[in-house]
Amino acid sequence: MPIRLRPDLAALPPYAPGTMPPVAINLAGNEVRAELPDSVLKAIGDAATRSGRYPDPTASALVARLAERLDVATRNVVVGCGSVTLCHQAVQATCAAGEEVLFPWVSFEAYPVIARIVGATPRPVPLAEDWSPDLPALLAAIGPATRVVFLCAPNNPTGARPGADALRDFLAAVPPSVLVIIDEAYREFAVGPDVPDGVALARELWRQGRDNVAVLRTFSKAHGLAGLRLGYLVGAETVTAALGRVQVPFGASTVAQAAALASLDAEDEVVDRCRTIVRERDRVRRLLVDAGYQVPPSHGNFLWLPIGARSARFAAHCRDHGIAVRAFGADGVRMTIGTTAENDAFVAAARTYGEQPV
Ligand code: PMP
Repeated sequence: MPIRLRPDLAALPPYAPGTMPPVAINLAGNEVRAELPDSVLKAIGDAATRSGRYPDPTASALVARLAERLDVATRNVVVGCGSVTLCHQAVQATCAAGEEVLFPWVSFEAYPVIARIVGATPRPVPLAEDWSPDLPALLAAIGPATRVVFLCAPNNPTGARPGADALRDFLAAVPPSVLVIIDEAYREFAVGPDVPDGVALARELWRQGRDNVAVLRTFSKAHGLAGLRLGYLVGAETVTAALGRVQVPFGASTVAQAAALASLDAEDEVVDRCRTIVRERDRVRRLLVDAGYQVPPSHGNFLWLPIGARSARFAAHCRDHGIAVRAFGADGVRMTIGTTAENDAFVAAARTYGEQPV
């Protein structure tokens, strides 16, 4: 007799991260494959020699450093095995079966998956015309069963983001019992005078006695440490304590903690790396626009091609050219900014795509 599983398990759609076909150029995963500074590599090597011991379970040195940088107390920071794990903990800590997790859509594909794993109901809210989160529509969609709102800013996969004032107004209008998580995984690539600083906005609200806004950040993107799995959430103490209650112990490894600390020390290199990616992103966007594609301005390390029903065929065409990109149903295709040569190969493939691009 087979083991007994959760009755709804078979119906859970798996999270399918950009599949890794054996292609020469992988622009499917929103990774940053920059060379790490020597100081970070050395910290990784040193920490690896301590692999026989368990890591600091609360990542106290890293938490202290992050708290200092963000001008919050250490009790406002919680570290996890990638920010996706913290998304999971946030839903676990807030949602009973059938309660709702709201998010703009298209967005980070883990949000609905996590909601279902926990037994909550995912509630996607269509993006605005410009591919940014539709804040009025999100607000209108909040109902009595809503427990969490994920707001990915800049939004993966479309690259659009709300302005700081619009976000502030939105946060002020959300019912205080609903937790809003501003997912700033790509914040370091955002440009413009009104890039929101989620932590500053959250702090403003905490001072007014509101504890329902938290911010998620990660070392997987700008810091180039996706393989080590380290993210953090900045939230009011009620939120960080709640996440702590559903935490699996020792999620952040010794090596990940050490690498993150060293990468924070290597800030100049991180800033340079982001500047290079932003320059390259804007160059590639111009080339794609010149080739006839509509490409909304992006604030991430990726570009969005809203080519609708042709997305799967376009991705297959790229694969035929040895390039992996990510198709999102019948909405569009996301390409991650890679090296100049990789990006040029992508642009060349896009140019030869058989149909007239829209
Ligand atoms: N949030 C967003 C918006 C993402 O795109 C990703 C990864 N693609 C994550 C969170 C998860 O990042 P990690 O778990 O590597 O910190």
